[in-house]
Amino acid sequence: MVTNYLSVSLYGLLCLNCVHIVYLYNFIHISNFAITIGELSCVCDYVWLMKALQRLIWPDEIRRLHPLLNMDLIQAGLYNPADGHVDPYSLTQALAAGARLYGATIRQGTSVTALTQTGSGNWVVETDNGRRLEAVRVVNAAGLWAREVGQLTGLDFPIVPAHHQVCLTLGPS
Ligand SMILES: Cc1cc2nc3c(=O)[nH]c(=O)nc-3n(C[C@H](O)[C@H](O)[C@H](O)COP(=O)(O)OP(=O)(O)OC[C@H]3O[C@@H](n4cnc5c(N)ncnc54)[C@H](O)[C@@H]3O)c2cc1C
Repeated sequence: MVTNYLSVSLYGLLCLNCVHIVYLYNFIHISNFAITIGELSCVCDYVWLMKALQRLIWPDEIRRLHPLLNMDLIQAGLYNPADGHVDPYSLTQALAAGARLYGATIRQGTSVTALTQTGSGNWVVETDNGRRLEAVRVVNAAGLWAREVGQLTGLDFPIVPAHHQVCLTLGPS
C-alpha cells in the first residue's frame, strides 16, 4: 500500500499518467476476517506516516461507494482515493528506458547468488553466470524474493507475501 502510494506519486512526476500507461481511480481493499481488519488498521497507521490518503472504512461507506457489491461477509475496507492501475509491460519498458537514459545497464535473466562486503565497505556481487561486479551500494529490489536476497547479506527481513481481495469503484465525481 505504501509502495502503491509512492509508485503513483513517482508515475505522476514522470508524467506516465499522460501517456496512457498509468490510470488513476479509487480503490477499496475489502476484508471479511477480523484478523485482516487488524492488518488493514496497521497498514493505515504506517501509510499515515507517509502522508498517503488511505483510511479504514466500514460497511455503510463501502455500500455507498460500491452499491453492487455483495456485502454479506464484508466487515471493513481500506479505501484509497488515489490508487490506479498500470499497463505493466509499458510501465516496465518506460522505467527501463529511463534508467538506460541515465546510464544504467540492465542484465536480464541474471540472478544474484552472493553478496559479500569488502574491507573498504564496497560490495562484491556474484551472479549465476559467473560474473562478479563491485558496487559502492546494492539496492535490494527483489520484491517477493527480497527476504531471500536480504539473507545473502545475513539480514532477515520479516517479509511474507499474502493473498488478498480488492474491488474497484468510480471516483466520487
Ligand atoms: C499474482 C499477483 C498479482 C498482483 N496484483 C497486483 C495488483 O493488482 N496491484 C498491485 O499494486 N500489486 C499487485 N501485485 C504486487 C506487485 O506485483 C508487486 O508489489 C510489485 O511487482 C513489486 O515490484 P518490485 O519491483 O518491488 O518487485 P517485483 O516486480 O517482484 O520484481 C522483483 C524482481 O527481482 C528479481 N529477482 C528475485 N530474486 C533475484 C535475485 N537473486 N537476483 C536478481 N534478481 C532477482 C525477480 O526476478 C523480479 O524481476 C501482485 C502480485 C502478484 C504476485
